[in-house]
Amino acid sequence: MGIAMKLVEPKVYLIAETGINYQELKAALKDIGGDIATAWLKGHAKYGMFGGGESYDEVNDGEFLIEVAGRTCYKSYGVGLNPNITKIRQEAKEYLENTLAKGDGSIFEHSTVTLLLTNISRVFTHELVRHRVGVAISQESGRYVRIDQTNPMGLWLPDLSKFEKYRKHKIKVTTNAYLQESARLAEERYLKLQEDFNWAAMEMNEKKELTSALRRPLPNGQANNITWTANHRTLRHVLVMRTSEFAEIEIRMVFDKIGQLLVKKFPLIYQDFERTPLPDGTGVWKPKYVKV
Ligand SMILES: Cc1cc2nc3c(=O)[nH]c(=O)nc-3n(C[C@H](O)[C@H](O)[C@H](O)COP(=O)(O)OP(=O)(O)OC[C@H]3O[C@@H](n4cnc5c(N)ncnc54)[C@H](O)[C@@H]3O)c2cc1C
Repeated sequence: MGIAMKLVEPKVYLIAETGINYQELKAALKDIGGDIATAWLKGHAKYGMFGGGESYDEVNDGEFLIEVAGRTCYKSYGVGLNPNITKIRQEAKEYLENTLAKGDGSIFEHSTVTLLLTNISRVFTHELVRHRVGVAISQESGRYVRIDQTNPMGLWLPDLSKFEKYRKHKIKVTTNAYLQESARLAEERYLKLQEDFNWAAMEMNEKKELTSALRRPLPNGQANNITWTANHRTLRHVLVMRTSEFAEIEIRMVFDKIGQLLVKKFPLIYQDFERTPLPDGTGVWKPKYVKV
C-alpha cells in the first residue's frame, strides 16, 4: 500500500457577502422619508444605480446596509424628517465610527460574509463551532465522506521547531516528522482495515455507520472543510478571540488571514482594528471599541 496522506495548507475563501436591492431600498426610503430620504440615497448609493450622480461606490453593500439600518432607527437620512434632529453625520465612516463608539452593535448583524475554509483540521473546526451566536455552519461530514487512496487524509502541522522558545524545550525538526509518521500510520491501518469490506454491496446507511466507526482512530489534525457564515458583529468578536496570542496556532493563523480580508473589503466596519505582529508570523487583532 502506497503513502496516501498528503500535507495541506489551511485556506480562506470569502465566497459570499450581503448585497443590496437598490430599487426596493429606494421605494422603501421614499415610503419612510419621501424626497429627503431618497435624496440622501441618491447621494450615497452606488454610482450608476440612479443614472449617475455622486459616487459613493467606495462603500461596500454590507457596510451601506448597516448604515441604512442605523439611520432608519432615528430617521436620520436628513434634517426635516425627525424634529428632534437638527444635524446628521454625512459621511459613512464617521457615521459607523459613532455607532461603534456607542456600542450599537445590533445594526452590524444585518450584513454577513460567508467563508469557505478549506484544509483545516478538526482541532480548528471544534473550536470554531463554539461560537454560537450570529453564525451558520455546514461542515464536511465524517460519516458520509470516506478516506481512501483516491481521497486521502490531509494534515497540516505547525512547525514549532522554527522558534527559539520551543527549541530550548527540545522541540526539533524531527518532532514534525514524527508527528507526520504517527498520523500516516493511523491512516495506513485505517486503509488496510477498510479493504476487508465489500463497500459496493452496502446500503448508504451501512456505509455511514462503518465509515464513522473506522474514522475514530484517525487524528484530530485530519483536514476537512467548512462553510461558515457570520454577521459582522460576530466577526468582530471572533476575530479578537481567535487571534489572541493565547489562541491555538492554526485558528490564529486562519483568523489573521480573515482579519486581513475583512479590513481590506470592509474598511469602515473594521476601521478601529489594529494588527500587532507576533514572532510566528501571525498577528493579534484588537479594536478600539471592544463592546460592540
Ligand atoms: C484562547 C482561548 C482558550 C479557550 N479555552 C477553552 C477551554 O479550555 N475549554 C473550553 O471549553 N473552551 C475554551 N475556549 C472557548 C471559550 O470558552 C468559548 O466557548 C468560545 O470562545 C466561544 O466564545 P463566546 O462564549 O464568546 O461565544 P459566542 O457564541 O461567540 O458568543 C458571543 C457573545 O454572545 C454572548 N453570549 C453567547 N451565548 C450566551 C449565553 N448563552 N448567555 C449569555 N450571553 C451569551 C456573550 O457575550 C458572548 O461573548 C477558549 C477560547 C479561547 C479564545
